[in-house]
Amino acid sequence: MQLLRDPSFQRGVTEQALRAATTGRVTRGIPALSNIDRSKFGVAIATLDGDLVTWGDSHEPFSVQSLSKLFSLCALLRLVPSSWTSVGWSPTLIEYNSLEGVEARSGIPLNPFVNAGALLVTDRLEALTGDAVCATRELLRLSNPAAAWRVDAMVAKSEAAVSHRNKSIGYQLASYQLLYADVDRVLTSYFRQCALTANCIELASAALFLADRESAYRVLPKRLRHQVNSVMLMSGTYSGAPDVSFQIGLPTKSGVGGGLLSVAPGQGAICVWSPPLDRRGNSSGGLAALSIIASALDWSIF
Ligand code: GLN
Repeated sequence: MQLLRDPSFQRGVTEQALRAATTGRVTRGIPALSNIDRSKFGVAIATLDGDLVTWGDSHEPFSVQSLSKLFSLCALLRLVPSSWTSVGWSPTLIEYNSLEGVEARSGIPLNPFVNAGALLVTDRLEALTGDAVCATRELLRLSNPAAAWRVDAMVAKSEAAVSHRNKSIGYQLASYQLLYADVDRVLTSYFRQCALTANCIELASAALFLADRESAYRVLPKRLRHQVNSVMLMSGTYSGAPDVSFQIGLPTKSGVGGGLLSVAPGQGAICVWSPPLDRRGNSSGGLAALSIIASALDWSIF
């Protein structure tokens, strides 16, 4: 971790990340997020033994978007460990919001990180708890009680107003009778969950339980941590997952707010934030930074 505290190392990572970010585009799918400052860049690395290294805009909250799918999945697995049979664990080689994947499998999602799977997770949490956002926040509070885990209602509303694609997926799932809750309720809850805000430090700390091999954090049993990390490696960055596995070697989840969250089993967690996205919806600058940091720490799982 010493190298990571070196200001010239940090400057080098930031410069390379910002250069990579020039090739990306800030999300246009959610109008309220389309004006985020594209030069924002933050990093937080939290270790299981309590160390924390941060720099840049690591204290600034951003829209977690699909990073929330990781925590809603864990919230569901805590309640029903066998949920994999309904949400799937196949790799994603298509867009995260594709209708194709759903149709080809008679409505059954590929995995919990594509939108179809995430909507199904939300539906199950609504049915089981009556409030999926609350259930996801409870999981987040269990893993990091210090953060506010605030929902940005403007962002949720903004997505709800334009997200015809997610609505189509929701109705597609409903058409196969795969939802227990009302489809509009599932969509509203999903948009609110995606609109949670947090900063890099809060997110890296919240993901530590997934890196924990000793069960000190008591959020998920070992078998489930193994399964979540495995699916995260295969699908957390959608069609970019093979590249992330090949170049970085860490289970990683991305969000269109520009966040990337990686888990290094037995070591710690890394959160990087840089808003411009590549064509697969993953942060361009974030991937560049993650690659340098993971390699400097020798944190690849391989
Ligand atoms: N709310 C976004 C959506 O459903 C989240 C997508 C993402 O972050 N990859 O389209």
